[in-house]
Amino acid sequence: MLEVKNVTKRYGKNVACNDVSFTLEPGTLTVLLGPNGAGKSTIIKSMIGFLKYEGSITINGLSTKTAEARKYLGYIPEMPSLYPTLTVIEHMEFIARAYKLTNYKERINMLLERFELDDKRKKFGDELSKGMQQKLNLCIGLLPDPDLILLDEPMLGLDPHAIKELKNYIEEMRVAGKTLFISTHIIDSVDMLWDRTIIMQDGRIRANVTRDEIEGSGKSLEDIFFEVTEGISKEDVISSGSGIDAGEKAGESEK
Ligand code: ADP
Repeated sequence: MLEVKNVTKRYGKNVACNDVSFTLEPGTLTVLLGPNGAGKSTIIKSMIGFLKYEGSITINGLSTKTAEARKYLGYIPEMPSLYPTLTVIEHMEFIARAYKLTNYKERINMLLERFELDDKRKKFGDELSKGMQQKLNLCIGLLPDPDLILLDEPMLGLDPHAIKELKNYIEEMRVAGKTLFISTHIIDSVDMLWDRTIIMQDGRIRANVTRDEIEGSGKSLEDIFFEVTEGISKEDVISSGSGIDAGEKAGESEK
C-alpha cells in the first residue's frame, strides 16, 4: 500500500501541494484529476522521490526516498527525456540492463509491437516525432513491470491507436493486480476501470470518491469535477473516506 500523509510542497511562497493525504490500495486504479496547475505533477514527483517535501510518502511502511521502496515503483513522466544518440532498441536495452532485468527481449518486442515502434527500432531519439517519443517514453516506463505505476498525463501527444492500446494495457495491468495511479486534466481520457478518483485544485484535495459513490449519486465524474472545481457548497458534493475538503469552498486559491 502506498500512503501519502500530510504532504506539503512549497516553491518559495507558492504552495504547490497543501497538506495532501491519500492512500493507494493494492490492485486498484486511482485517477488524479485537476485543472492545470492543481499540483498533480508535484505530488507525483514527490511520490517518486524526485522532490523534497514536508510530510511522508511510504510504500508498505518504507519511505519512497529509499532505494528499497523505489524497486516497487514505476514512473512514466509527462515529458519524455530521451537520449538523442541512442536508438529506440538501445533505449530499451539500456533500461533493461539498468534494472537488471532477465529474459527481457520478448517483453521489449511485445511493447514495441503494441505501441507501433517495431519498425522504428534503429531510429535515434531525436529522429522520432513527438508522438513516437511519447510512445517510447511509455515503453521505457512499462518495461521493468513494477507493482505500482504512476503515469503523469499518459495520453498527451498520443495518436488514437496508441491511446486505445494504452487503455487496453492499463486494464490488463489492473486485472493482473498492479496498483495504478494516473494523473490527468482530461476527464474523457479516464473512462476506464478506475476504482477511485481524487480531484485536486490549488494544491489541495477537493474530493476523494469511489466509482460506486459516483454511480450511486446519479452524477457523472464530469458533474462532480465541475461542482468541485467551479465552486458549490460542500453539502452538495458526495464524499467518501477521505471526503471533500472541508476547509473552504472550491475555487478559493491558496496562492
Ligand atoms: P499540474 O501538474 O496539476 O498542472 P503542477 O504540479 O505542475 O500542476 O504545478 C502546481 C503549482 O506549482 C503551479 O502553481 C506551478 O506553477 C508550481 N510549480 C510547479 N513546478 C514548479 C517549479 N519547478 N518551480 C516553481 N513553481 C512550480
